[in-house]
Amino acid sequence: MAGQSDRDLGMTPPGADRSTDSYLPEHGNGGYRVLHYDLDLDYRVVTNRLAGKAIITAQAVQSLSRFSLDLGRLRVDEVRVDRQRADFTHRAGKLRIKPDKPVGYGATFKIEIRYAGAPVPIAGRWGDIGWDELTDGALVASQPNGAPSWFPCNDRLEKAGFLVRISAATPYTVVATGDLVSRRRGATSTTWVYERSEPTAPYLMSVQVGRYELIELAAGGVIQRAAVPPRLRTVFRHDFGRQPEIMAALEAMFGPYPFREYVVVVADDDLDDPIEAQGMAVFGRNHLDGQRTHERLVAHELAHQWFGNSLTVADWRHIWLNEGFATYAEWLWSDVSGGPLAGAHANHWYGWLAARPAAVAIADPGVDRMFDPMVYKRGALTLHALRLRVGEKAFFAMLRSWAAEHRHRTVTTSQFRNHAARFTTESLDDLFTAWLDRPELPPMS
Ligand SMILES: [Zn+2]
Repeated sequence: MAGQSDRDLGMTPPGADRSTDSYLPEHGNGGYRVLHYDLDLDYRVVTNRLAGKAIITAQAVQSLSRFSLDLGRLRVDEVRVDRQRADFTHRAGKLRIKPDKPVGYGATFKIEIRYAGAPVPIAGRWGDIGWDELTDGALVASQPNGAPSWFPCNDRLEKAGFLVRISAATPYTVVATGDLVSRRRGATSTTWVYERSEPTAPYLMSVQVGRYELIELAAGGVIQRAAVPPRLRTVFRHDFGRQPEIMAALEAMFGPYPFREYVVVVADDDLDDPIEAQGMAVFGRNHLDGQRTHERLVAHELAHQWFGNSLTVADWRHIWLNEGFATYAEWLWSDVSGGPLAGAHANHWYGWLAARPAAVAIADPGVDRMFDPMVYKRGALTLHALRLRVGEKAFFAMLRSWAAEHRHRTVTTSQFRNHAARFTTESLDDLFTAWLDRPELPPMS
């Protein structure tokens, strides 16, 4: 379908609307890069209807007689490019646009898309990802491929700024990733405006709608808020009571928190796993039990703000740079908070991995193993092995400068290897090759 007619349209070379990501080849589009997304949304909770207008500011990196965006199953009503109506087709998750006249190489242009419908998650090998209805509200958890479930985007790991304006019935609290710019209450609905000025990958944008109470978690320092069902307020305050201390501990180890605020949302539904978004983490009510059973996940999600969100992998095959680091943060927090030492966690998980077939080279685990616990645990063990090799001082200096030098950018495994090499006089090639490139589990030290 796409091939023949697309070539007929002219100047864009074949394949230009394919992503460069090796694990998500069907997402992402070539020929331009997005600078900014302006999303104006109206959401009806009871009927799960979303109506939106997206204004996307992009820059052409080649002359464009046509281009495409990713968008799930919402209906597109109108597309304009630089205010002129444009022809489009929308099939199989691709919105293909043919502007009235080609966009010149290097030109900055605006794409305006009106769309509506009942948002549904993107189905795939990881289950249902993206905009999801809750019992009484909605949540968005898009890693890795759910962003097109609620807005048209270039769904690759390229970062842009965002402005999200969203209206919903007044009893509901709406939290979107970003700083709250304004909240205006109308007769029946309230409009919330959030601005995300730090460059952000589409998958890290999120909207949370529910009957939440907003709680302040920390005074001074990084603003820490929570959106929690009122009846869970007390248990939440206990289970997340040490989050400000976790924030301080991670800042001491990783450097300054990379955003202005951190918002924790507890959905009034059970969720399999908590999930990170930009400046935000989303937990299920099942992650609260009044006994801090899941405190390691509080540390894990917070650590993603440095590793995953500020530093975002340039390609999903580098996922261990997110998950190995966030897992190691769990062990580090355990260590500094009087729990088992990081080395004890390392020994435990080394044994766990040794009891399994060595099937994953974590520098490129394969798309089916992207979220495999082996990638998480072995990624953390790689960092522990590196720490044993280079020593405490060099290890933490290396981590802090890794976070600082690549703040709000994308990163790769080879960049990390080169970075770590600066902190020791001896070669780390054998260590990284054994831990990252080969499936066999190497000795710990
Ligand atoms: Zn994680």
